Amino acid sequence: MRDFEKSQKLNHVAYDIRGPVLDEAQRMRANGEKILRLNTGNPAEFGFLAPDEVIQDLIHHAVESEGYSDSKGIFSARKAIMQYCQLKGFPNVDVEDIYTGNGVSELIVMAMQGLLDTGDEVLIPMPDYPLWTASVSLAGGNAVHYVCDEQAGWFPDVDDIKSKITSNTKAIVLINPNNPTGALYSKALLLEIVQIARENDLIIFSDEIYDRLVMDGLTHTPIATLAPDLFVVTMNGLSKSHRIAGFRVGWMVLSGNKAHVKGYIEGLNMLSSMRLCSNVLAQSVVQTSLGGVQSVDKLLLPGGRIYEQRNFIHKAINDIPGLTAVKPQAAFYMFPKIDRELYNVDNDEQFVLDFLKEEKILLVHGRGFNWNQPDHFRIVYLPRVDELAEIQEKMERFLRKYKR
Ligand code: PLP
Repeated sequence: MRDFEKSQKLNHVAYDIRGPVLDEAQRMRANGEKILRLNTGNPAEFGFLAPDEVIQDLIHHAVESEGYSDSKGIFSARKAIMQYCQLKGFPNVDVEDIYTGNGVSELIVMAMQGLLDTGDEVLIPMPDYPLWTASVSLAGGNAVHYVCDEQAGWFPDVDDIKSKITSNTKAIVLINPNNPTGALYSKALLLEIVQIARENDLIIFSDEIYDRLVMDGLTHTPIATLAPDLFVVTMNGLSKSHRIAGFRVGWMVLSGNKAHVKGYIEGLNMLSSMRLCSNVLAQSVVQTSLGGVQSVDKLLLPGGRIYEQRNFIHKAINDIPGLTAVKPQAAFYMFPKIDRELYNVDNDEQFVLDFLKEEKILLVHGRGFNWNQPDHFRIVYLPRVDELAEIQEKMERFLRKYKR
């Protein structure tokens, strides 16, 4: 029999979401060992339940959702998304500019497949949510990483962005609020990025799936609202804010100036039609989800679970000698730094694997987010405080072995 290999298209795709660490975690769980999982941004897994009204909607719409929908999505969902965007100030958004997807994930892949030819470059943040890098590579493009600066609260380094633009650069990707750093970008920074896109004729892709998970009284500014003269593609969805990652509900919004992107939009329409449509039953909860009370809000205020867990983990990590972490202001991730002058850590993946084996806590190593140094890891602080409390003592003990 002949051997079947993966396609060559995948040779340059880096997406090691699975890998030795997860394999080991699986093996340990299969052996009945209890692991504290600080590795996935999956709220439902940590007791964050979907709002009742969302579940009621789902049941109510089950029968009428049996068939395919329009390839971009059902009218009520797209209308609700359009109104959500209008209220946030997005310029030039019509129902036809909204595409629903099986999660933002499907739309990220689609958006890159529709745009890129071999050798095209896309500016991607470092660290990133790795699907962006993988999707650019899968589409034949080159992901060119710009630095997000830890010293500057993980804001993108504007000079680094400028220095990385070439004649092949087609687009810039922003993840705001950010996974894995929890940063929320200021309007001033966004305006600088818009200006760079304007001067260099770039499409802006903005992943804003955490826009409703913002703390400390801050507000999220969609970059689309600052760029009416540019073409902006914004991604968002219900996986995080409505704790329904398993339903797979996401959307993509085209806004601003579309005069020069007719060909690209034709490509997006083609790809959207090829997958027929996204999950219709899941789309049926969009209208209810985006209207009315946002139950996620109270999780983010003092006394709310996400807020209190954020404060706890931030202090717990910074209290460990040689670990520092910028306080996240949004989402539910933190990206601490290991002081390598204090600790002999030269392989972050091995570090995370050994921590799992010895202390039964599962993290993700920084290079999994395309970070270029072996000195970071990501924590998901969705578990309750009593579970998070385990990390401080265990990490401190574990790090002693790495002391120089
Ligand atoms: N974008 C970012 C920044 C994410 O963190 C995630 C999931 O963790 C996604 C996109 C994918 O979300 P979805 O469940 O809508 O596919």
